[in-house]
Amino acid sequence: MPPPAEPARASVAPRPAPARFATAGDALRTVYGFDAFRGEQAAIIDQVVDGGDAVVLMPTGAGKSVCYQIPALVREGTGLVVSPLIALMHDQVDALRANGVRAEYLNSTQAPQERARVERAYVSGEIDLLYVAPERLNSPATVGLLARGSLSVIAIDEAHCVSQWGHDFRPDYLALGDLDERFPGVPRLALTATATPATHREIAERLRMPTARHFVASFDRPNIQYRIEPKVEPRKQLLAFLRSQPEGAAGIVYALSRKSVDQTAQYLRTQGLDALAYHAGLDAETRARHQARFLRDDGVIMVATIAFGMGIDKPDVRFVAHIDLPKSVEGYYQETGRAGRDGDPSVAWMAYGLGDVVQQRRMIDQSPGDRTYKMRLGQHLDAMLALCETVGCRRQNLLGYFGQDSGACGNCDTCLTPPETWDGLIPAQKLLSTIVRLQRERGQAFGAGHLVDILRGARTERISQQRHDELKTYGIGADLSEQDWRSVIRQLLARGILVAKGEYGTLAPGEPAGAVLSGEAPVPLRRDVLGRGGGGGGSRARRAPASASLDEADQPVFEALRTWRSEQAREQGVPAYIVFGDATLRALAEHRPRTSGDLSAIPGIGEKKREAYGEAVLAVIASS
Ligand code: ADP
Ligand code: ZN
Repeated sequence: MPPPAEPARASVAPRPAPARFATAGDALRTVYGFDAFRGEQAAIIDQVVDGGDAVVLMPTGAGKSVCYQIPALVREGTGLVVSPLIALMHDQVDALRANGVRAEYLNSTQAPQERARVERAYVSGEIDLLYVAPERLNSPATVGLLARGSLSVIAIDEAHCVSQWGHDFRPDYLALGDLDERFPGVPRLALTATATPATHREIAERLRMPTARHFVASFDRPNIQYRIEPKVEPRKQLLAFLRSQPEGAAGIVYALSRKSVDQTAQYLRTQGLDALAYHAGLDAETRARHQARFLRDDGVIMVATIAFGMGIDKPDVRFVAHIDLPKSVEGYYQETGRAGRDGDPSVAWMAYGLGDVVQQRRMIDQSPGDRTYKMRLGQHLDAMLALCETVGCRRQNLLGYFGQDSGACGNCDTCLTPPETWDGLIPAQKLLSTIVRLQRERGQAFGAGHLVDILRGARTERISQQRHDELKTYGIGADLSEQDWRSVIRQLLARGILVAKGEYGTLAPGEPAGAVLSGEAPVPLRRDVLGRGGGGGGSRARRAPASASLDEADQPVFEALRTWRSEQAREQGVPAYIVFGDATLRALAEHRPRTSGDLSAIPGIGEKKREAYGEAVLAVIASS
């Protein structure tokens, strides 16, 4: 459908934004203050500057932004960035402006006048980069507006949102498939930090980019240490983990429900931690306030549902903790990926237990949707469980899920403390035969708690009422502790040897149970190691705060710069990292530049920031 032609206003003649830089290298140095491209950035930028399309799969923190920002600065016209979240747009636009780039956004938070100003500026070619939400591109008014100006490149960020098989599907993305017809000749880039091979194919198909070059970087995030431990006393475990983190470290704790978010944040505050809650049930003002504190102040712990984080660009998130099981490996990878964008050591920690498996299976069971849909959710969960229960390297499992081979990493819990396995065949048989007997002899089914009581020969009211002490299997599992049994059941559920049913999560034999009962299928189990929350896989001590890699003599300079940065950020109402990242402060503390000229050797200081902050920074360094 062709967009209705809007009359161009007589006062503004359409004019493409002129190219700001002759070469990509010039833009990189002048705007960002970096002297070399990383990885495939240069190749991606060349492809797009030459007018070709590109599909870019690159992990968080690898530097996707410059891949579309620089083509927009080198080509004539305005770069259009399709980005799914308003919070992200604001931060990116702030960061670009701080570097002297003429960036704007169009979204629903704007007053009509403000929008009109941006529209006029676009048509007169005064904008380098324009951010819009995907739903805007479904509006004829926006398409009409864009047609009145001139686009240099179209970037589709978080491109995996177009995939219906992925975990983050957004219907508005489907309409991005005809951008090639609406804006012929404008090169397009699709970018994402998370895609299985299937999602990757779907991105190229649905966005109709048959001739695009594909750039697939390794998804590995070597600075993130992965740790998953069995859930026993989740609050205590979480607290121990948080206390093991360096002073002033910011992080996110993800929980599934709003209630658990509120309770956990409250609990952490009573323990003296600076924790805030974030979920969709809080009013917009509270959410904005909490988010602003997380971005602006040091060391805030955000307890949140997954509604928080997409589009949070904060580079120095030091840990991401999950106290409930994520629904898919893609979700887990994306959530944990919010740690350590700046490349400094970070931790992804999770506590996971039997209750999580039962709850998630039940949620899938009760979810609206057809069989195919439920099957897909089940497959997502199975892959997540396999990651939790693996006795091999977590990272290898994770990367394998995204179709990438790797060796054992040496920086995950199973690499640092290889788990023992034990033969779980006999316990599995005892449990299964208890379940089968109850079903066959009494027509009954129970959840894990009561089954463990029967196996351990407990004397509970329910057992005497139901006369379950007369069952042949009563007490035959007294050799294992309650915790051991819960570990067995969790692992059997994870492998489908057991299935949980109905509202109460009653247990029944799954398909492979027959082979276990007959002794044909071995049941090797992972021996749970408890209470590693604070230990960092046993051997690692407290990790370093942002300045610890510096010589002792440089640390006071770093701290003085950090204080100066906080003041600047507060004055301007922007997150500290928009002023300067930690890496830039570290380089300043190390090299202690004395003249404005010396500053150009410091990564992260382009022309605009040198003008804006150069003198102040030199003064801080001179006086500390
Ligand atoms: P992504 O969008 O892939 O998560 P960003 O574009 O936010 O990553 O970049 C991550 C970090 O790497 C940012 O702090 C950015 O300034 C930095 N960065 C990107 N490219 C370079 C480069 N060529 N040299 C040095 N730092 C870079
Ligand atoms: Zn490993």
